Amino acid sequence: METSIEPDSRERRIARNVILLIGDGMGQAHRFAGQLLAAGRDGRLAMDRLAVLGQMDTMSADGRSFVTDSAAAATAIATGVKTRNGSVSIDIHGHERKTILELAKESGRSVGLISTCQITDATPAAFAAHVPHRADQSEVARQYLERAEVDVILGGGAVHWFPSGKALPSILTGDVPWRGVGTEGNLVAHARNAGYEFVASDDELRTSLERRRSAPGGPLLGLFSGQEFFVQTAEDLGAAYDPPIPLADLTSAAIEILEQNPQGFFLMVEESAIDRMAHRNNAPLTLKGVLELDRAVQVALAFANRVPDTLIVVTADHECGGLAVGGSGDQPYPYEPGGGLLDSLLAGEDGPFPVAGFDFGFVLGWATTGHTAAPVPVTASGPGAELLRGSIDNTDLFHALSYAMDLSESMVVSTRP
Ligand SMILES: [Zn+2]
Repeated sequence: METSIEPDSRERRIARNVILLIGDGMGQAHRFAGQLLAAGRDGRLAMDRLAVLGQMDTMSADGRSFVTDSAAAATAIATGVKTRNGSVSIDIHGHERKTILELAKESGRSVGLISTCQITDATPAAFAAHVPHRADQSEVARQYLERAEVDVILGGGAVHWFPSGKALPSILTGDVPWRGVGTEGNLVAHARNAGYEFVASDDELRTSLERRRSAPGGPLLGLFSGQEFFVQTAEDLGAAYDPPIPLADLTSAAIEILEQNPQGFFLMVEESAIDRMAHRNNAPLTLKGVLELDRAVQVALAFANRVPDTLIVVTADHECGGLAVGGSGDQPYPYEPGGGLLDSLLAGEDGPFPVAGFDFGFVLGWATTGHTAAPVPVTASGPGAELLRGSIDNTDLFHALSYAMDLSESMVVSTRP
């Protein structure tokens, strides 16, 4: 039988728009626990109702470990090249690698980044900046403006956009007297000079959207918190997740602006609390992160229903916590060797949490406060989604997105048969 790498172009559908939603640290158990809590035993989260399911390996190029960090993981997804942990879209030889967002921009699409973390943190950074060390967040911000020219930037981490020691605008300092830690001057002023509109609250974002409905505006920079949208600690130590704006609303705002471009758009949406709370083994707020992301997925799916040439992909950069889901009321299995030990094995559990619509619950157990190498689910729908079916590597995601958008510079090479 003759095989061909390129499918018949007459049948091929191009993804004009791509929305890539990343639950940082979100493994299969995180998704299943979110389902039990919100949709019940037999329901499905929106992210698990997409047509295509794949399983993605997450390893980095770091030979000293089989566990990736977010920088190397996002670099693999964004550039198709594995790198060392901590590097942001720079390969192991020190070369900058072009990202899927940069390629999408070159194709004439508009591009956007959203995160509930610092918008310059590793995951969004890997899509639109190149730095040897992920800690260099002001340089990441500068590159968003000067090099990648990201059209919509929405998230936290305003401290990296203002000079070191300078008080942040009062709208951002309601609860905490944030001061800048930036190393690249006043990047918000710089953004305004470059034509960006700057917003820092729900009200300002809403006003901007209303104005843009009658007169389309330029690029938008929205920084809504000094640092993350949450406070990451273990339970009962001050942990909080009360986002200044829900991720779903940011997603909706970004889509509204980006879809003005008839050539389409690429949007990356990151929910970061899943990872950060899993690092603290804080189960309730890890679950809250999963459900925040799922509401953003619902917004993306509603758009794709209206505009069918849209590819939606929901995945993670890696798993965090070694999370496992158990039944809270399950009896030990005395007929299995060692089965009677179940109660004591779950001594370190979190929960019980209710299963929606049922009178039984579930508990969560953690193996680590770090990342693991567990493969993460990938779900997708729309043009190109079929490329993500089955077992894939994180670098394959770049090639799939590139092929789906028909980006001319892309090398369509898959490691799969
Ligand atoms: Zn992490």
